[in-house]
Amino acid sequence: MLTPMSFHPDTLCVQAGWQPKNGEPRVLPIFQSTTFKYDSSEHVGDLFDLKVPGHFYTRLSNPTAEAVENKIAALEGGVGAMMTASGQAASLIALLNLCNSGDHFIASSAIYGGTTNLFSVTLKKLGIEVTYVDPYASDEAVQAAFRPTTRAIFGETIANPALTVFDIERFARVAHANGVPLIVDNTFPTAVLCRPFDFGADIVTYSTSKYLDGHAISLGGMIVDSGRFDWRASGKFPGLTEPDPSYHGTVYTDAFGPSAFIVKARVQLMRDLGATPSPMNAFLLNLGMETLHLRMERHCRNAEAVAAFLEGHPAVSWINYPGLPSSKDAALVKKYLPHGACGVISFGVKGGRDAAVRFMDSLKLAAIVVHVADARTGVLHPASTTHRQLTDEQLVAAGIGPDLVRLSVGIENAADIIADLDQALIACD
Ligand SMILES: *Cc1c(COP(=O)(O)O)cnc(C)c1O
Repeated sequence: MLTPMSFHPDTLCVQAGWQPKNGEPRVLPIFQSTTFKYDSSEHVGDLFDLKVPGHFYTRLSNPTAEAVENKIAALEGGVGAMMTASGQAASLIALLNLCNSGDHFIASSAIYGGTTNLFSVTLKKLGIEVTYVDPYASDEAVQAAFRPTTRAIFGETIANPALTVFDIERFARVAHANGVPLIVDNTFPTAVLCRPFDFGADIVTYSTSKYLDGHAISLGGMIVDSGRFDWRASGKFPGLTEPDPSYHGTVYTDAFGPSAFIVKARVQLMRDLGATPSPMNAFLLNLGMETLHLRMERHCRNAEAVAAFLEGHPAVSWINYPGLPSSKDAALVKKYLPHGACGVISFGVKGGRDAAVRFMDSLKLAAIVVHVADARTGVLHPASTTHRQLTDEQLVAAGIGPDLVRLSVGIENAADIIADLDQALIACD
């Protein structure tokens, strides 16, 4: 694995992970194999006992996935990473690796809808409770949400779809004062624009289905471990610091030191849950990531141009883009996202729900898709699609007005994107 501190993120995007030896393929191969061959049963026994490194069954690990895991770990500055079949599986496993039935955690209220559902409904059924706090809540308000059973704080660097910027350093301080780690979903900025570990986060999660893949071709998720949280000093995580009866009494902190969290996630939870990515999807993710640094730069520059255009447009009632100088989060952007605030913008069309629908249907270049963060410009009108069961009043309560359009600015030419938006805004007037 190539991780010299001297390499810039751009170089790591292209080169980290797959390091071919003499005569091996230059390009990361797709190891499309469920299993791996060994010369002795003793060696296989040692693999099972985690005494020697190596792959034995793709549900647990696979060389193609391992290469892309090492690439992300290098980019984020972590000690290890584990790829999952989807972003949902990454959030689930990250929380289950810390919380047992009866435990509790705190989450920012500005997070992805699918994550809210996982936390509020499915984890609750497993006996794990969540308390949501406003991302702008005071330290005192966050502290007040703590219980003796609280085991983590969770937030999104740039929230989907609220686009609020999470004050990582502040939440890390409150989490650490209570002996628990901070988990940050870094899907929207990616490690190219923000490295949450640099600001005190302990665990990073991803839906790689968005910018990391970048082409809307494969679902995936990732968990990255900073290796810096002291599980033993905290005393709140017996799952990591006491013998695991399901793994012949392994004490993860003793056996794996700073990698305890990510090793446990793999050998215990991935073993049992099997939310494993296919080698093909790991290959596609690696290929996408080879251009991540180039794409993120263009997404940011295009979104800045589009946001400046929309901000002055007479048919636009409001705009939310953290990268705008007028954004309420401008100070947080300066600190956490100095190179750009990704390509996602939300805005309101004057004339409400009907005008928004006319606007969407008039677009020629931007496609109507239930996806964000890929190379092609796409739009979504939550009120008439993903949230169509809600009344206008319920939509406003959910922070999604009937006029809200979510625009994912792609990497096409900015003037073409703007011209398309302009003609559709005139058509819907
Ligand atoms: C899409 C998304 C997820 C869920 O990821 P999937 O790959 O769709 O399972 C989680 N978090 C954020 C911020 C997302 O945008």
